[in-house]
Amino acid sequence: MSRTYPSVDDSSGRTIGEEEIAAATRVLRSGHLWRIGGTEAEALEREFAELIGREHAVASSSGSSAVHLAVAALDPEPGDEFVVPPLTDAGTIIGVLACNAVPVFADVDPVTGCLTSDSVAACLTPRTRAVVVVHLFGAPADVDGIKRVCDERGVAVIEDCAQAYLTVPPGGTGYAGTRGLIGCFSLQQTKHISVGEGGLTVTDDPGLARRMRLFADKGWPRDSAERNHLMLGYNYRLTDLAAAIARVQLTRVGSVVERRRAVATRLTERLADLPGVTVPADTGHSYYLHSLVLDPSVTGFGNRAYVGAMAGSGAPVGAGYLARPLYRTTMLTERRTYGTSGYPLSAPPADTAPDYGVGRCPVAERMIEETLVIALINEGFTDEDTEALGDVLVDAYKQALQGSD
Ligand SMILES: *Cc1c(COP(=O)(O)O)cnc(C)c1O
Repeated sequence: MSRTYPSVDDSSGRTIGEEEIAAATRVLRSGHLWRIGGTEAEALEREFAELIGREHAVASSSGSSAVHLAVAALDPEPGDEFVVPPLTDAGTIIGVLACNAVPVFADVDPVTGCLTSDSVAACLTPRTRAVVVVHLFGAPADVDGIKRVCDERGVAVIEDCAQAYLTVPPGGTGYAGTRGLIGCFSLQQTKHISVGEGGLTVTDDPGLARRMRLFADKGWPRDSAERNHLMLGYNYRLTDLAAAIARVQLTRVGSVVERRRAVATRLTERLADLPGVTVPADTGHSYYLHSLVLDPSVTGFGNRAYVGAMAGSGAPVGAGYLARPLYRTTMLTERRTYGTSGYPLSAPPADTAPDYGVGRCPVAERMIEETLVIALINEGFTDEDTEALGDVLVDAYKQALQGSD
């Protein structure tokens, strides 16, 4: 029997209430919808910096632009390398390519799908400018460990926290987005909190914050009387209309994460007795979604067969998260970047052409093809929804076991 589960694509799984409607109405009635000369985006930036625990926040038009701000703030030379994970949204690497820098893919932890200090260390070269660490699905990546291998080489660490509001990385206090030099967040439809499209970038460094402001605003210095473009920048401005809604969403993020944690913890309990099933540790996880990995040598079946056994249930599940690692997308394999130049992937000015071949990151490839299963949970899940999804996950396991005999 098919069940309809709450979805982040509509009000069933999105927490949007009268306060957001009042905020949008306030801005609409004012007739002042953009941020220039307004108060909402500036207030959002102050409130977000305070929430995350950093000195500065810069609002932008998407999570992808938030990462682009971070990369541009570092002012990389063309051909500089950025170490990135293969299992993530394209927004993690678009800003790298748009700055004419080269994404270098490092392999991931087989359970969380996040970069590790060892995998990053293996990819550092004299050309490495920064590492973009993704807290995948809200699971805390080992930012401190990665920072240790980067600090001694003068390599910057950017945290991509688009899926990781209030995630707490291991080894201390403080949220994801406070350990790296810069942290990036998204307000897109599917994230923990949303205004449809939007982004936020945080840092403690006033110089980087100023560069990010300029970059998101055509290089135009709003903090001075100078009428001049100080650098290449885009119009990545968030509107005051979106910012007003985002300010209300910020007040909800604590309860959103709390409810998602409760749903995920219960699903993990339901899976606990199934041999060959491993879930990421609960500690510090903020559950953009719930995930598990199979050990096919124990189960006798892989992620495709498992998810296939849930067909028709309506369960919001998927095998592998992506169809292919990012380095196997046409954008990179065929270098569809700038005309026929292949730039910046065609080297020089990079030292060597990057490796985007099959087998580049075997762990990530195996997660996609064989082991990783995701379940799209959200704070709209009732206890009944959670138990129903738990039933599907357990029943499909048993069914897949029989199918593999
Ligand atoms: C969603 C996402 C992005 C991009 O955010 P958009 O707002 O969709 O541009 C970047 N990185 C990760 C890890 C994401 O999940």
